[in-house]
Amino acid sequence: MEEVNQAKRPDRVLSGMRPTGYMHLGNYHGALKNFVDLQSQYDCYFFVADWHALTTAYDETHTIEEYSREMVVDWLGAGLLPEHCTIFVQSKVPEHAELHLFLSMITPLPWVERVPTYKDTIDALQEKDLATYGFLGYPVLQAADILIYRAERVPVGTDQSAHVEMSREIARRFNEIYGRGTDFETSVMGLLEDHGQAFKNDFLACHRGFREGGSQEALEEGLTLVSSSTSLTRRQAEVLEGYLRGTGRVILPEPRALATETPLVVGLDGRKMSKSYGNTIQLRDKPEVIEQKVSRMQTDPARVRLKDPGDPAKCPVYTWHEIYLDEAQREWAANGCRTASIGCRECKQPLIEVINEEQTLFRERAEPFANSPEKVRQILEDGSEKARVIAKETMTEVRSAIGIANA
Ligand code: SF4
Repeated sequence: MEEVNQAKRPDRVLSGMRPTGYMHLGNYHGALKNFVDLQSQYDCYFFVADWHALTTAYDETHTIEEYSREMVVDWLGAGLLPEHCTIFVQSKVPEHAELHLFLSMITPLPWVERVPTYKDTIDALQEKDLATYGFLGYPVLQAADILIYRAERVPVGTDQSAHVEMSREIARRFNEIYGRGTDFETSVMGLLEDHGQAFKNDFLACHRGFREGGSQEALEEGLTLVSSSTSLTRRQAEVLEGYLRGTGRVILPEPRALATETPLVVGLDGRKMSKSYGNTIQLRDKPEVIEQKVSRMQTDPARVRLKDPGDPAKCPVYTWHEIYLDEAQREWAANGCRTASIGCRECKQPLIEVINEEQTLFRERAEPFANSPEKVRQILEDGSEKARVIAKETMTEVRSAIGIANA
């Protein structure tokens, strides 16, 4: 019964964040806000990527536990609901490491060396020791994180689709190498037997039409037959699809990117908002702190005196107006700036109010968890246990496909 229901579930979404500090507005608009939206539309799994934190800071482990907990408090404050999504910790599901190991055996070295962020990060973090095997291999660990849950969708910002592409390539290679075991045909026939003679006949006719006659129409018809069947589980459908296409068994389905529009949030000094630049507003900053931070935020340098006109396009504050304010307020600010009819302090005021309003809600929702680490621990324990059930199922299939004994 359970299996039939799985066929009807919404796509599974997987995403994680490294626990490298308290969450700020850049993290919120760059990813977390999207998590909150997705949780009601998909079967979402969000994880604390604590092993990934080691790839760039293997010698700064003293903060990982605290940051992991506080990050989850921020997630809950922002509106993630454990009853709507699964929140867990990567290191509590050790199967990630096992799959990472198997995938590292089949991933060609040039694939990881050519990842654009590899060299960019080394250049950006010159003070860090990134000449490690772990840092080079982080895209493979990332692939394992995704593939172990057979996630269909991975939310990515506009410039991050390369990460998902790498996971797709690794999955494809794995399936090509290990998906053609001798028992494949037998298991397909067993599956067809279980789904009635009519279904079996129709499916095999499509299979013959495509594989022997090369008919694209027969392929489409077969795929529709499989996808519209209400009695096949998602895994069973994947097996039949692999047989139909001739690609073999799909052990690790290829995920697809779920493109999201995420604004780049600048920091108080006009550079990208980042903890390492010390230019952030944290999600649980108090109203007086927010007011003080926004008040000192950089503006168009041309506006030295009140009567000097400015240009909103040159003002970091105005990029926040575009995120937070409605059209009428934006127009008021832009006109006021260009005509010098308002001062920067006045221009910032509606921003302070709207950020405060939003963050008051975040603080209120976060408070019961911030005051009770036990509640957070329980959420993570429950989520990790749930995630591990799927991870274990995948690994049983992975080991058996490779030919490594399942003890
Ligand atoms: S008036 Fe507003 S948009 Fe213009 S420089 Fe000042 S803060 Fe920026």
